[in-house]
Amino acid sequence: MTDSLVLSLAKDLIARPSVTPADEGCQQMMADFLAPLGFTIEPLVFHDTTNLWARKGTTGPVFCFAGHTDVVPAGPAEKWNTPPFEPTLIDGMLYGRGAADMKGSIASFMAAVQRFVTDHPDHQGSIAFLITSDEEGPFINGTPKVVETLEARQEKITWCLVGEPSSTAHVGDVVKNGRRGSLTGDLTVFGIQGHVAYPHLAENPVHLAAPAIYELATKQWDNGNEFFPATSFQIANINAGTGASNVIPGELQVQFNFRYSTELTDEQIKQQVEDILTRHGLRYELKWTLSGQPFLTGSGKLVEATQRAIKAITGRETELSTSGGTSDGRFIAPTGAQVIELGPVNATIHKVNECVRVADLETLSDIYYHMMQQLLVKHD
Ligand SMILES: [Zn+2]
Repeated sequence: MTDSLVLSLAKDLIARPSVTPADEGCQQMMADFLAPLGFTIEPLVFHDTTNLWARKGTTGPVFCFAGHTDVVPAGPAEKWNTPPFEPTLIDGMLYGRGAADMKGSIASFMAAVQRFVTDHPDHQGSIAFLITSDEEGPFINGTPKVVETLEARQEKITWCLVGEPSSTAHVGDVVKNGRRGSLTGDLTVFGIQGHVAYPHLAENPVHLAAPAIYELATKQWDNGNEFFPATSFQIANINAGTGASNVIPGELQVQFNFRYSTELTDEQIKQQVEDILTRHGLRYELKWTLSGQPFLTGSGKLVEATQRAIKAITGRETELSTSGGTSDGRFIAPTGAQVIELGPVNATIHKVNECVRVADLETLSDIYYHMMQQLLVKHD
């Protein structure tokens, strides 16, 4: 039996060892596939990162498939049952690094689009691909730069489908319609180093900071809302001391992270943290790193089309969720685009023996097709 289109595309992509930020020709392969379907191909290279913007059509609305061709490193090859960059089919499961995150989804995008433009050559609006090779890395020269380029020429995405593996047990059971924000604080609290036997000559920053840390750790930041769990504060790293048992440390370092809901802004969180530290009379330095603003695509045509497509193809009622880590959706949503993440089951992503059920990729492709049909074909 010959491979289906989805399977052969997925295999072709997995066979390319595109460990972030390498692309290894994945995007060229996509471009060669999309150009004959009527797409205008625009490679966008920024430093070490290869990106692809491909668009068919010049009018709105724009339905965009977004994703990444890079993968995380395979890890120790001897821990894999099959070589990580040799796509291997065993009992209906396709094994290889990137099978689930997210070369499988890209194969499903491509097959869905080929079928759609064949069936509906005169569809409405445009279909686009926004693909990067820097999603698993520092995400500097990938999607943010492409979005900047599009914004500069006022090219807008109406609906964006990110192929990140959103599903939990069955394909389509969970769709991400937003993500929490992520904000990291690097705090240094200053004391005065000294001998533990002469505490009156020193100031212990651990003791000084403890009540403030307690307040930060126990504070109810918000109650979340319909779409988001409550904002959470977590200490990730804490360090003080010289290693000697007779020295009061001079400094305390605390690194903490907020995963926050749309009830708060990063500015509000920063202000509240600084108020607490100041109220406790601490001498401190605090550096903030914002890795992503929260975003939410509530009700709307894209959410409706996604729910309907999943129901029609799988019979499942999908669950809308904002849990999990960040994704490139956070860079696309601020342009005003509606953003949904829908991809295969995420049980094995970033692990050894990463795999995806081939039947799930076919199902995904059918769901993507169904969504385009709802959004880009006039029903009268
Ligand atoms: Zn991914």
